[in-house]
Amino acid sequence: MSEDFEELLVRLSAKLRNRGHKMTAQREAILREIFNAGHFTPEALRDLVAKRYPKRKIGLATIYRTLNILEDEKIVTSVSFGVSGKRYEFGIKDHHDHMICDICGEMIEFVDEQIEKRQKLIAKQHNFRIVSHTMQIRGVCAKCQEL
Ligand SMILES: [Zn+2]
Ligand SMILES: [Zn+2]
Repeated sequence: MSEDFEELLVRLSAKLRNRGHKMTAQREAILREIFNAGHFTPEALRDLVAKRYPKRKIGLATIYRTLNILEDEKIVTSVSFGVSGKRYEFGIKDHHDHMICDICGEMIEFVDEQIEKRQKLIAKQHNFRIVSHTMQIRGVCAKCQEL
């Protein structure tokens, strides 16, 4: 990720403000963790925030509320409803697809030009205008295959 968090924060604050949401200190703290978190559950995010800001006491309800707002604004995206529950990731990333392990919840990111091209072609054949796509391959990761 090339963009610096502080620059991003300015942009995201403006975006939220335009939509009638405030960038509170709490939301900023949450966003800062999301930026570095990879793929996470709301519970894991709460734990990360609690560890970094022990005095803030940010509860799960606040985390959920903030995630909902950020998801509406496409600042985070939800990526799976796997064994480990709903997972989110920072939404302002280059497009990629996921492989998800059904045993440990590990998510592997990949990009395949052929798949991307084929999808566009198939949509075109159906005169379908693509807005977005999500592809998930479910299975068992290399580590869990050894167990
Ligand atoms: Zn696994
Ligand atoms: Zn991802």
